[in-house]
Amino acid sequence: MDENISGVAIDDQMHFCALHPERDTELRCNRCDRYMCVECAQRTPVGYTCRECVRSHADKFYQGTLADYGIVAAVGLVGGAFTAGATLLLGGFLILGFIIAPAIGGAVAQFALQLTGGRRGRQSSVVCAGAVLAGGIAAAYLLLGAIGLFTLLYLGLAASAAFARFKVSI
Ligand SMILES: [Zn+2]
Ligand SMILES: [Zn+2]
Repeated sequence: MDENISGVAIDDQMHFCALHPERDTELRCNRCDRYMCVECAQRTPVGYTCRECVRSHADKFYQGTLADYGIVAAVGLVGGAFTAGATLLLGGFLILGFIIAPAIGGAVAQFALQLTGGRRGRQSSVVCAGAVLAGGIAAAYLLLGAIGLFTLLYLGLAASAAFARFKVSI
């Protein structure tokens, strides 16, 4: 009986946003369970989360260090050079370039992620894509003294594949 009464009492209680004590709310953070108002709630794929939890999750997600950026850039440069070299070797088989360039780009990002233990920085995708482009353009100039339109196109495909690979959430 007592439990029942107190249970009802708890259910009837008003709850207030942890950050805005003047706002009553029944919304709760699905991570830390605190009450939050509509303004404080952030919609996530798994429900409503408070801003603090969203931020701390992002910090955990983006924990790449400066050394990681270096590794990502180095792998990207080599991958870009490899993309340029491989597609130049293909010569007339243009269609193959459209297949292998994105594959190389994706593999480059995957390899970079493995080397850095899966850590990403907020700019990892940009660093990787930029390095692929830079490495490929440098390689093309070293090999041919110029860069062809198709090589640029392949490099663009490889870079965007690398970019996308980094953007995919874990
Ligand atoms: Zn929370
Ligand atoms: Zn609030």
